Amino acid sequence: MNVLLVYAHPEPRSLNGALKDFTVSRLEAAGHSVQVSDLYAMNWKASLDARDSTGAPLGDRFDPSLDSKHAFENGLQSEDIALEQKKLLWADALILQFPLWWFSMPAILKGWVERVYAYGFAYGVGEHSDARWGDRYGEGTLAGKRAMLIVTTGGWESHYGARGINGPIDDLLFPIHHGILYYPGFDVLPPFVIYRTGKMDEMRYAATCETLGQRLDNLWTAPPIPFRPQNAGAYEIPALTLRADIASGNTGFALHHIQSCESQSP
Ligand code: FAD
Repeated sequence: MNVLLVYAHPEPRSLNGALKDFTVSRLEAAGHSVQVSDLYAMNWKASLDARDSTGAPLGDRFDPSLDSKHAFENGLQSEDIALEQKKLLWADALILQFPLWWFSMPAILKGWVERVYAYGFAYGVGEHSDARWGDRYGEGTLAGKRAMLIVTTGGWESHYGARGINGPIDDLLFPIHHGILYYPGFDVLPPFVIYRTGKMDEMRYAATCETLGQRLDNLWTAPPIPFRPQNAGAYEIPALTLRADIASGNTGFALHHIQSCESQSP
């Protein structure tokens, strides 16, 4: 299988750097092909702007969506964007690896998403009409591929628990899991999170690699997070609200997970 690892840490001798090297070795030892987009080493341009197209803006002002669409459809995207899209199409699985910075991904990785996920590639795919909101949330260009986050945090696991002060980790990662990965079609695996990195030592590092290695071995077989597909009947059209008879009384991000007790529902 082919794996694309998109990695965002500025220091190769960091914990993240060591875990990235471990991940590549483990996957390659199992016979997989791995490409790494090491964003800092690539000096990745993080900001989306008019320079992302080799052509002139379509209108009299730069339009981030429409100019992205025009560049994508007409082969006018800057080379770095087109290359990353090619890697995504090549990959059977995508891993995004990063330290949690201000409760999200580092800006350079967010910039990778914003620029590589062009209109027509990652969004604006499929029929958009009064009856259908395109191929997204479970469908789309990247459907059939798997994705997983490897994330390190300074905070403790309890800080990210159900009643932890930072908010539950599943909620904090929901915009990445659901909005960035499930939206263009990925099946999203539960994240591999390493908490309290300030307390890392050789022994804990070895145990962490052991557990991470198992997760990587199971990349193709582990059940994904059971997000609800947009186009399978669970959401009212065109409001795209969850049908009143499903998970009634519940609120929040978990609404968009199929519960085990309703496994026969869409
Ligand atoms: P490093 O600092 O490189 O290493 C961490 C520890 O691991 C060190 O003790 C190091 O000696 C040890 N180590 C490194 N390599 C090895 C190895 N090979 N073997 C054994 N031990 C090793 N945290 C949060 O929880 N929430 C936030 O919102 C948040 N926001 C942040 C925002 C910014 C701008 C910054 C800079 C930090 C933030 N942090 C936050 C903390 C951040 O998430 C952690 O600092 C980061 O995850 C640690 O990863 P690292 O790769 O930089 O670790």
